[in-house]
This record gives sequence, structure tokens and C-alpha cells, in this order.
Amino acid sequence: MSAELRVDLEQLRANVRAVRERMAPAEVLVVIKDDAYGQGVEPIVGAALDAGARWFGGIDVDSAVRAKRVAGDRARVFCWMTVSDDEARAAIAAGLELGVGDAAYLEQVAAIGGPATVHLKIDTGLRRNGVRPERWRAFCARAAEHERAGRIRVAGIWSHIAEASDSDDDVSRALFDAAVTVARGEGLSPETRHLAASAAAWHRPEFRYEMVRIGAF
Ligand SMILES: *Cc1c(COP(=O)(O)O)cnc(C)c1O
Repeated sequence: MSAELRVDLEQLRANVRAVRERMAPAEVLVVIKDDAYGQGVEPIVGAALDAGARWFGGIDVDSAVRAKRVAGDRARVFCWMTVSDDEARAAIAAGLELGVGDAAYLEQVAAIGGPATVHLKIDTGLRRNGVRPERWRAFCARAAEHERAGRIRVAGIWSHIAEASDSDDDVSRALFDAAVTVARGEGLSPETRHLAASAAAWHRPEFRYEMVRIGAF
């Protein structure tokens, strides 16, 4: 016996439309990590595009590059794993936007240049990845230097939250807002703030900002 997964693309289109409607005016980034959760990047991205999706994102470069190949100029694709120099180079060449959550990786990406479009990650408590609040101001100042020199463009500020308790998420959100204020003070003008995954995005409008990242839903 072997297991089989069937994905109804018509249902997927309806779901993406419904999520986009609920989140509007915030944008919806459709998460396609690990080959779109094993469902296959190409059919999932194609169907989501039909339903109006304009952003995709994944952890691994491979899934993200494939998504960009399907979407072309119709969507932006964000890739948030810290990767090797070769992979980062390939990602930037493919037109992906990179999540940058530590100072060494910022230098690595800036050295590749392009300019590379990046989203800076603040650690709002999960301690998975992301710059700690006490190091955030210096990190933003350095990013602004790179931006002025044309090596990077800071398109977004983001973080990831636990979505296990509302009160913990509220603490994270306050840290996030403070981080955005610091970034602007250092001369950055990120147009896309994104914090929430499915649960917080669905239930708590104040977590939506300009974009939400939807996987499980
Ligand atoms: C997996 C993942 C998501 C999607 O999470 P869901 O809870 O499935 O919506 C969003 N953001 C990041 C950073 C992720 O790793």
C-alpha cells in the first residue's frame, strides 16, 4: 500500500481567493516551502496566480526559483533561509528577494550586490533566526549604508511569531513596531512589513500590516 495525496486545484483557487478577500488590503504571500509542502511548486503556483496571488515565499532556494520561473513578472518571490554564497548568488540572479536575519549574511548579500532586494528580519522572541533587538539599530545603520551604495534595496521588515498565545504575540508585535521605527530612523524605507502566518493573520487584523504569509490555511 502506498499513500496518495490528491490536490484539487479548483478548490485551491477558491481558497486563495477567499484568503485574499479576507486579508485585503493586506497582500497574501502564498507559502511554497519544500516543493509547496510536497504538492509540487508548478501546479500550486499556477493555480494561485490564477486566483490573484502576487507573492510567493519559501525556505529553500530550489522551490523559490521554480516558483519564480512559473510566475515571471506576475509575482514576487521571497526566500528566507540563510544560504551559501553560491545559492544566494543564484537566488539574486533569478530575481528572488532574500530574508536577511544576521549581520554576517547582510555583508555576504551586499557583496554580491545587484542590488539584492532584501527583507530584514528582527527576532521578536522566537529565537530561530533574526537580529536581536539590542543589535537591531546597528544592523539597520549598516543596511542603510549598503542601500545608499546601491548594493542592496531594503524592501521589507519581517519577523515570525509563535501564534501559540495572544499575549506572547502582542509582546512580539510591540517589538516589531519598535524595530520598524528604528529602521526608519536609520534612513530605511521598507514598504512591506510582514509578521503573521496563517493563524494570527486570520484572526487578528492588527497583525496583517502590508502582507501576511499563509501556509497551513
Ligand atoms: C512555514 C512558515 C509560514 C506559514 O505558516 P502557517 O502557519 O502554515 O501559515 C509563514 N512564515 C514562515 C517564516 C514560515 O516558515
